[in-house]
Amino acid sequence: MIIVIDGPAGSGKSSTAKELANRLNLKFLDSGALYRALTYKWLEAGKPEKQLFFKNLPSVNLKASSDGDQFSVEIGGEDVTGFIRTGRVSEHVSEIATAKQARSYVNSVMRDMVKHDTFIADGRDLGTAVFPDADLKFYMDASIEERASRRFEEMKSKQNDVSYSEVLENVKMRDHTDQNRKADPLRKAEDAIRIDTTGKTFEEQVDEMSAIIKSKLTI
Ligand code: C5P
Repeated sequence: MIIVIDGPAGSGKSSTAKELANRLNLKFLDSGALYRALTYKWLEAGKPEKQLFFKNLPSVNLKASSDGDQFSVEIGGEDVTGFIRTGRVSEHVSEIATAKQARSYVNSVMRDMVKHDTFIADGRDLGTAVFPDADLKFYMDASIEERASRRFEEMKSKQNDVSYSEVLENVKMRDHTDQNRKADPLRKAEDAIRIDTTGKTFEEQVDEMSAIIKSKLTI
């Protein structure tokens, strides 16, 4: 069984999906982490020519595992989870995520992963392209200022050379690229339930979504 949450950067998808995984005993799938891991690998390799990098994707050997709300990514046997949330990876991730070849590789990793368990996954195109037959679909959103300020708070604790205006610019840039790319752009699936989190507390949004899941699914 698969429940998906799509939405723009900073809309609260990941933290909400993790909390729902905990409360409802589901496994968590962080699709952005898979694109981030590929981007990290590309940067570490010294930004090789993209077509060459994409051609060799299977040899990257991207693997993911989920333990409750913990999601880990491995590349070639090395756990890279701790290295993928840096400003440098955020800056370049859209370049990799816009490519069809990267999307189809990541999609196959995700589809394999969810075969044997109940997952809650967060991303951009899960309800529209990756899991069009998902058991339940949410689309989370919030104002751009609120989303940037949440990202800023999250990054500040790990990196002290980051400013709010830089984060706001990065969120704007990522919104634009995610919504306008040719391959599987970010958009709400027609059958997705919209959750606007502007001005809501974390507890409120999780309670609301948890109640919807319980009313619609037997889990
Ligand atoms: O969710 P997160 O911000 O970690 O995702 C990183 C990037 O990966 C996004 O900015 C987006 O470009 C890309 N992404 C995507 N499709 C997904 C999940 C993430 O294109 N399903």
